[in-house]
Amino acid sequence: MIPYGRQDIQQADIDAVLAVLQSDFLTQGPVVPRFEQAVADKVGARHALAVNSATSALHIACLALGLGEGDWLWTSPITFVASANCGLYCGAQVDFVDIDKATYNLCPRALEAKLEQAEQEGRLPKVVVAVHLCGQPCDMQAIHALAQRYGFMIIEDASHAIGGKYQNDYIGGGRYSDITVFSFHPVKIITTAEGGMALTNDDALASRMDLLRSHGVTRDPALMTQEADGPWYYQQVDLGFNYRMTELQAALGLSQLERLGAYVARRNELAARYDDRLAELSVTTPWQHPDAYSGRHLYVIRLELDQIGVTHRQVFEALREQGIGVNLHYIPVHTQPYYQELGFRPGDFPEAQRYYAEAISLPLYPTMSETQQDQVVTALHQALEVA
Ligand SMILES: *Cc1c(COP(=O)(O)O)cnc(C)c1O
Repeated sequence: MIPYGRQDIQQADIDAVLAVLQSDFLTQGPVVPRFEQAVADKVGARHALAVNSATSALHIACLALGLGEGDWLWTSPITFVASANCGLYCGAQVDFVDIDKATYNLCPRALEAKLEQAEQEGRLPKVVVAVHLCGQPCDMQAIHALAQRYGFMIIEDASHAIGGKYQNDYIGGGRYSDITVFSFHPVKIITTAEGGMALTNDDALASRMDLLRSHGVTRDPALMTQEADGPWYYQQVDLGFNYRMTELQAALGLSQLERLGAYVARRNELAARYDDRLAELSVTTPWQHPDAYSGRHLYVIRLELDQIGVTHRQVFEALREQGIGVNLHYIPVHTQPYYQELGFRPGDFPEAQRYYAEAISLPLYPTMSETQQDQVVTALHQALEVA
């Protein structure tokens, strides 16, 4: 089976993790801050906070922005459930904005229309989570302009997007947002096994997220709300969690970060090769906005169903039968049973629904060989021909 994604672990990664295992600290040592600094420097952010998953990063990001009961969080329906769940964790309500036809990201025009209506109804969102699907950044300039006008805050869910650029700046630099989140799950661009990071240029948000990831407990007298009893003293000043990243994970991440540029370049090379070889098939290959340099976490094609004599499901099954580990990113979040319980209906976001009826993620990862890629292309040709 050619998987849809796969991590690349080299000897340098193994050595880095082993060195930590033999050191004094398995957690709360010097490697996590080094990893944070390295990522912050790479993408041009003032602060980076490593945590045990992107889901945790989204949670503390929402809390740091003050999201709570009575507030709304909006995001795209075409994302992993975590981009929406973080709002529910905080007691806020979640709603969705339909996707753009060309990029499959949250559509700024749909956002504007929804904001106009929400303003009249007095239910404007406090936070909008902009998900950079497949690694392609959202139209951040447009979303940021709307944030200025309607007073919401922006989290970039860049789980797919580390190493990519928007308008020539690395994603994570935070020019158009309050907080950016990366994921280091093994299928993502670089990995720490499980892991995530929240980046911000705002000192107060960084300090708040730092507290929240570690029980709300501080040893910093400046953050204490009462006078210290003595030098042993620590104080819980907020209700936080244990969302810390371990030293082992940070060592792996730091080692992987060395190859970030090479990974993204290779992913782009393979994506261009797919574009070329799929050009004459009845599929839509991923369109790229000129402002975007995508991390190319995923390569999603859309079947032109009116041009082919087979169904979406038949093509998917035929590829799987041939050992091609295709996938579907994503089932629209609002159609999940949990969200339907909250009142959403499948037809609520028609562009997302259309996408879901046509999309297939083809295998793409930096160690994929051209021979393997050709196998995928051949299998797709065959799957589309069996009319
Ligand atoms: C993977 C992913 C997450 C969650 O990442 P974890 O590190 O697994 O918690 C969140 N949002 C998106 C868009 C993702 O793809």
